[in-house]
Amino acid sequence: MTKILIVEDEESIRKFIRVNLEIEEYEVCEAGSGEDALEIAKTFNPDIVLLDIMLPGIDGYQVCEALRRYEKTMGIIMLTAKNQDIDKIHGLEVGSDDYMSKPFNPKELVLRIKSLERRLIVPTDDKDKEVISSSVFKLDKKARKFYKNQEEIILTPTEYQVILLFLENQKKAISRDEILDNVWGEDFIGDSKIVDVNIRRLRSKIEEDSSRPEFIKTVWGVGYIWEV
Ligand code: CA
Repeated sequence: MTKILIVEDEESIRKFIRVNLEIEEYEVCEAGSGEDALEIAKTFNPDIVLLDIMLPGIDGYQVCEALRRYEKTMGIIMLTAKNQDIDKIHGLEVGSDDYMSKPFNPKELVLRIKSLERRLIVPTDDKDKEVISSSVFKLDKKARKFYKNQEEIILTPTEYQVILLFLENQKKAISRDEILDNVWGEDFIGDSKIVDVNIRRLRSKIEEDSSRPEFIKTVWGVGYIWEV
């Protein structure tokens, strides 16, 4: 059963989301502030966090960054009241997997959650090679861990899927649309900027100099390529 933590200071919105998620049989927990969310997350261990940006006390961006420092890999969807690109992009840069603008249709929220759940599921296909190596990198599919020079690089569920796609298609240019379809799913409604933001964040994690990437290279007019 997927566990979802709703972080939202407006009680009516929180209850509305809760009712809709419980219909889908998710296990739900609520937090009314960022501080509460960080405490609850330690014991509740959510698989997915729905995170409002504007909160009293520490805001959603800070909560997102703090959650990303926890060892457990969880999916994070930011809920933004302001329908502005800058907010969404900032949310993605601090490590969220997706965002939704309020007000939203609960059915769409459930679709986004299901898409994120697919990124969290560990593949059980035994035919697949469990460890993929490439240059100084190693990806352990069973443990869902990624290493550079034996040192683990902590990835969000979305970043993990992007890296997996690259390593399974080394030296092949992959378009933004292919990345979107593979990682976010073909029913994803958001725009392809989400790909670029994740690439930027990945580069900052794995490249020596992310302005001159050696591994994730841009293919102008197409998308990206894993070069080694
Ligand atoms: Ca709020």
